[in-house]
Amino acid sequence: MEFRVMEVVSKGQEASFREELDVSELLQERKDIISAKPLAVALDVRPYEETAQVKGELKADLTMVCSRCLEPVEEHLAISIEERFALASMVKDPEADEDLIVVKEDKVDLQPYVEGTLLIYLPMAPLCSDDCKGLCPDCGTNLNEQSCGCSRDRIDPRFEALKKLLE
Ligand SMILES: [Zn+2]
Ligand SMILES: [Zn+2]
Repeated sequence: MEFRVMEVVSKGQEASFREELDVSELLQERKDIISAKPLAVALDVRPYEETAQVKGELKADLTMVCSRCLEPVEEHLAISIEERFALASMVKDPEADEDLIVVKEDKVDLQPYVEGTLLIYLPMAPLCSDDCKGLCPDCGTNLNEQSCGCSRDRIDPRFEALKKLLE
């Protein structure tokens, strides 16, 4: 997934990437991810106002763990990408354009950028459904499947002490 900024900007050379990127190793550390299908990368590189514009989409299919009940959740992510790359030597004031990615090397490898983008867009706390009831904090019963006998009107232990004083 490499291109040269100079060739895009000066020669108007375009590039297209359609790849299936294996991200299983990248996501290995994430304990809330059970499995991940290869990331579908569809990116096009074009010259745009003295920069190389990278535009397209990443599609990820993941099986994650519901943050409340710990059951598997299928997550389908479609991440739109629109970024511009420029060579440091060609940019007069790198601070002027916040959206610009300024690179020192002419040759840009999009893979680390793509991987970093995926990590940013991963759901922080996936849910199997918006109204997932989660697990009972006392007995661990999955409350989506059945209810348990545990008391639901638990009070913070500090308030429990206060309540006793007031009785
Ligand atoms: Zn759940
Ligand atoms: Zn319970």
